[in-house]
Amino acid sequence: MMKDMSLLEQQFGTTAPLPRLTGKEVLAGPDPAVCKVKGVMFGGRKQFLSDTLGEERFNQLLARLSPRTAQYTRTPLASSWCEFESIVELDRAIYDLMHRDYPNILALIGAASAELGIGKVYKSLDNAELTTFLEKSALFHSQYQKFGRVQFEKTAEGGRMIYSDYPCFSPIYCASAFGFFLEAILRHGGTNPRVVESTCQTLGDAACTYEMTWR
Ligand SMILES: [Zn+2]
Repeated sequence: MMKDMSLLEQQFGTTAPLPRLTGKEVLAGPDPAVCKVKGVMFGGRKQFLSDTLGEERFNQLLARLSPRTAQYTRTPLASSWCEFESIVELDRAIYDLMHRDYPNILALIGAASAELGIGKVYKSLDNAELTTFLEKSALFHSQYQKFGRVQFEKTAEGGRMIYSDYPCFSPIYCASAFGFFLEAILRHGGTNPRVVESTCQTLGDAACTYEMTWR
């Protein structure tokens, strides 16, 4: 049992949403200096893994990783830039180790980072706060990723996040975003959240588009 369980896991259990793991993967891109993510992403995963796996299994996971990725995970430096390749390596190792018990483990990882970023749980839907949170997530995109652009659009029943111009991408990475958005909706008091990735760069589309609806 997790010490600090996301609302996604509390309300959806360990089965939904399941990741789509098919699609093309580009880990470094034409300019590897650009394919970087912030160390804070490793910090969030370390917290989640320590809570969920315990120390012994966490160390087993570290042993499966390349030295660089193990270092980022063991001693995350929140404000440093880390290779995109390493976050994908870590998430794939987590998936391999845990998906039998947690088929939606990649979504749970994304949910855990939303949980860290939001903290407070709203008792009833606060549409304005939720919209502001999603707008801010888009605004601060470049603080977490050195690559790509993002745009948030409000829709009649929710919102839409559009990520584009990625020189590097992986379906493993796209899969954790589902949990991030679902948890964001749930924590702001939204009910019946739905997140669909309607287009995806790993499938040859120009953007990864996450359509979100809630009530
Ligand atoms: Zn995608």
